[in-house]
Amino acid sequence: MKLFCDKCGYIDVAHHDGYGFGDRALEGVMFEVKVEGTKLVTSEVESSSRDYFSDLNRDKWIKAANKSLEDVLDEAGEGLTCPAEGNDVIILNDDGSDYTPPASPKKAFKGPTVRVFKGVTTLEDYLKDQEPL
Ligand SMILES: [Zn+2]
Repeated sequence: MKLFCDKCGYIDVAHHDGYGFGDRALEGVMFEVKVEGTKLVTSEVESSSRDYFSDLNRDKWIKAANKSLEDVLDEAGEGLTCPAEGNDVIILNDDGSDYTPPASPKKAFKGPTVRVFKGVTTLEDYLKDQEPL
């Protein structure tokens, strides 16, 4: 998994605007996003925002930023920008092909639950024991 800017090519760090999850308090505050394994992670904001960000609840917003990166990843990098000139950044597979999310383990199929009522063989039998509506 790699970050790809349509102008610069592959880059190590992309920016993620805090406005998407932090509203006005984080408008224009760019979180530095890196690829770690199969995840996008952030632990720092860009240098010009560090003073401002240090007055905020850092742990809370770093956590919120990482949470929102899960959605960014689902959208193959939608919303990420290049630190150089603000161009759009997309996520590509290591071989340069379009990003495909790792296969999630399929949940074991469970058939519909069938309830068996003892002694009930027809709908009428069942309904006659029910309270009137
Ligand atoms: Zn770029």
